[in-house]
Amino acid sequence: MPDLERFRADLRDWLDSHAPKALMGAPGNELEGVWGGRKATWSDPDRKHWLELCAERGFTAPEWPRAYGGGGLSRDEARVLRQELAQRKLPPPLIGFGLTMIGPVLLQFGTEEQKQEHLPKVCRGEIRWCQGYSEPGAGSDLAGLQCRAVLDGDHYVINGQKIWTSYADQSDWMFCLVRTDPSAKKQAGITFLLFDMETPGVSVKPIPLISGSSPFCETFLTDVRVPTRNVVGQVNGGWTVAKALLAHERTMIADAFGGGAGIGKGRGIAGWAHDYVEFEPDGRLGDASLRHRIAQTEMDTRAFVLTTQRARDAAKAGHGPGAASSLFKIYGTELNQRRMELLVAIAGPQALGWEGAGFDERELDLTRQWLRSRGNTIEGGTSEIQLNIIAKHVLGLPD
Ligand SMILES: Cc1cc2nc3c(=O)[nH]c(=O)nc-3n(C[C@H](O)[C@H](O)[C@H](O)COP(=O)(O)OP(=O)(O)OC[C@H]3O[C@@H](n4cnc5c(N)ncnc54)[C@H](O)[C@@H]3O)c2cc1C
Repeated sequence: MPDLERFRADLRDWLDSHAPKALMGAPGNELEGVWGGRKATWSDPDRKHWLELCAERGFTAPEWPRAYGGGGLSRDEARVLRQELAQRKLPPPLIGFGLTMIGPVLLQFGTEEQKQEHLPKVCRGEIRWCQGYSEPGAGSDLAGLQCRAVLDGDHYVINGQKIWTSYADQSDWMFCLVRTDPSAKKQAGITFLLFDMETPGVSVKPIPLISGSSPFCETFLTDVRVPTRNVVGQVNGGWTVAKALLAHERTMIADAFGGGAGIGKGRGIAGWAHDYVEFEPDGRLGDASLRHRIAQTEMDTRAFVLTTQRARDAAKAGHGPGAASSLFKIYGTELNQRRMELLVAIAGPQALGWEGAGFDERELDLTRQWLRSRGNTIEGGTSEIQLNIIAKHVLGLPD
C-alpha cells in the first residue's frame, strides 16, 4: 500500500476509535471553536478531550515540526487529515492567532529559543495570543504607529495605546508593533516584539459593538518592561515581520469567512431557503431571481474553496502566502458579505430580530453574523488597502 494510503487507513482507524462521537456533525471554522489559553473555560468536556487527543499527536498544527509540538506531516498528509476531519464533520481541535498568525511567523523569523518557548504552548492550546497592531492614529497607515519602546538595559520600556485588539481581555500574550527609532523613515523605525499580558503596566478595556458582543479592546501600555530577547527579527526591522504576519492573517480571514462554514449550523443556504421560501410543486424555488442568487453564491463559494486549496498546495513549503493573500482576502470577505445579504433576503423579517420570543436561536444568530460580516472588509486591512497591494505587488503597477 502506498505510504499516503497507509497513512489514511491508520488515521481512519484512529479517528473512528478516538474522536468523540458527540462532536461529529458539529463542524466549526477558524473563528468558531476552542481558542485555548490560561482563561479558557470548558463547558463541553468533549472539546477539551478532543484538543488533548489531537495535541498529543501534533494534529493541532499538523505541518509544524514535531520538535515544536506539531505533527511533522507532509503537505499531502495534512490534506488527508483535513479531508478525513471534514468527512466526519469534526471541528478543528483548536483555533486562534497562535496557530494562524504568530506561529508561522516564529517558524520563519523566530530564534530557536523563541520557537522552543512559544510554539509547543500554542500547539497544546495553553497560551492564547492577540494582535497589537492598530492604534487610534494608525489603521490603514499602520507604519505611522506611535507606540514607543525605549531601550533600558536588557529591556524595552513601552508606552502607548493599541486599539481594536481582538480578544485582548481573553488573551495571555500579545505580538505587538512598537516604534524603536522615531528619527528613521516610518517603516524603518518599527520593531516586532512579544509580551505576556500579565506584565505590569498592561491594561485592557473592552469595546461593545453593534453585534452585541465585545471582541475588541483598547489596550493601554504604561511603562511595560519587555526583555530584549522577546524581539522577533531585527530591531527596527519589524516591518518585514509585520507584513509577513499580515499575509497569514489575510489568508486566515479569507478561509474563515469565504467558505461559509457554520452558516445556519451547517445547513447551508439551501437549508435556509427550504425553511423560509415557497417552492413550486415541481420542487423548484418559485422566485427566479432568488434562485439565481443562491446558485451563483453556492458556485462562487465552491470555486473559492477549491481555488484557495489549490493555491495552498502550490505554495512552496516554508514560504508565507505573500501578497496574493490580498486577492483571497478581498474576494472571500466580499463573498461572505454577499452571502449574508442573501440569507437576510431569504429569511426576511425573521433575520432582523435582536431578542424576544418571535425569533428562534438560529435567526438571532443570523442577525448577529450579518452585522459581524460588515467588519470583514475592514479587519486585516480594508478592501481599499488590499486593492493598493494587489496593484503594486501582484500586478506590478507603478505608484
Ligand atoms: C473585526 C475586526 C477585528 C480587528 N482586530 C484587530 C486586532 O486584533 N488587532 C489590531 O491591531 N487591529 C484590529 N482591527 C483593526 C483593523 O486592522 C483596522 O480597523 C483597519 O486596518 C483599518 O484601519 P482604521 O479602522 O483605522 O481605518 P482607516 O485607516 O481610518 O480607514 C478609513 C477609510 O479610509 C480608507 N483608506 C485609508 N487609507 C487609504 C488609502 N491609502 N487608499 C485608499 N483608501 C484608504 C479605508 O479603506 C477606509 O475605508 C480589527 C478590525 C476589525 C473590523
